[in-house]
Amino acid sequence: MNQELTQIISNREVMPGIFHLKVASSQMSLDARPGQYVMITCDRGTERLLRRPISIHRTFDGGLELLYAGVGGGTQWLSQRQSGENLDILGPLGHGFQVNPTAKNLLLVAGGIGIAPLIYLAEEALKAGKNVTLVAGARTADQLVPTSRLPPGIDFKVATEDGSAGYKGLVTALLPENAAKADQVFICGPMPMLKAIAANYASSFTDKPVQVSLEVRMGCGLGFCYACTINTAQGLKQVCKDGPVFEMSDVVWGELK
Ligand SMILES: Cc1cc2nc3c(=O)[nH]c(=O)nc-3n(C[C@H](O)[C@H](O)[C@H](O)COP(=O)(O)OP(=O)(O)OC[C@H]3O[C@@H](n4cnc5c(N)ncnc54)[C@H](O)[C@@H]3O)c2cc1C
Repeated sequence: MNQELTQIISNREVMPGIFHLKVASSQMSLDARPGQYVMITCDRGTERLLRRPISIHRTFDGGLELLYAGVGGGTQWLSQRQSGENLDILGPLGHGFQVNPTAKNLLLVAGGIGIAPLIYLAEEALKAGKNVTLVAGARTADQLVPTSRLPPGIDFKVATEDGSAGYKGLVTALLPENAAKADQVFICGPMPMLKAIAANYASSFTDKPVQVSLEVRMGCGLGFCYACTINTAQGLKQVCKDGPVFEMSDVVWGELK
């Protein structure tokens, strides 16, 4: 794990309210694994003392790519940063996704901006010779990652709430048919989506291994502040350092907000 002043290579709005950021960091690009994240200082010197967690969306030779939504003060501040400026970044942090060596067919399920870390996982899994189906849900077609940003060879299916692309409805409706042929499942999305999937875990996945990346409020990213503590079958865990990826069946979902 490193703390670096990284230089912004580019920072552009690629979908309405969603930004693609490239930063230079040779060491972080070498150390990163899918499902890990970085903590970014947004606007040092103001009331936003706490860093904001953002998943690693991709790596390239010499740096990291992030995909983030401008939802509040911190991420909106970030969206206004220009190439050439420096960002104070801590990472890579946390335990990411673990692909079972014997799993051949992977199902990745994304809700909204939850697609960010799953594209990195898809790329690495395809390189390792796995078959990857990515099922992504969004409110409208313009909130879906364009196919040009996906790795070649991926099987991509979409659901939109207004029916402007793919299946009309929630992404969870696409799970039963796609889960049937998967050996292992990986999910990232908003908490209501994760809870809905967890509630139907047994019927949707018939006890297949399912990993979820949890997006909870975090303070430090280092396991010091306990702000992100959750309850699991193995006792209390901190999402920032024990996660953010957990086995779905281990999480005590009823206690999560
Ligand atoms: C491990 C991890 C990885 C993440 N990866 C990404 C990513 O790749 N791309 C991305 O766009 N976002 C990601 N997030 C969510 C991101 O951290 C929050 O959107 C961000 O911290 C909001 O900060 P803000 O100052 O802009 O908003 P705030 O002013 O702090 O909050 C604005 C709104 O965002 C909500 N919010 C704040 N923090 C979170 C959070 N941690 N999770 C969900 N909602 C939150 C608040 O409830 C509020 O409604 C990730 C979160 C975690 C924990």
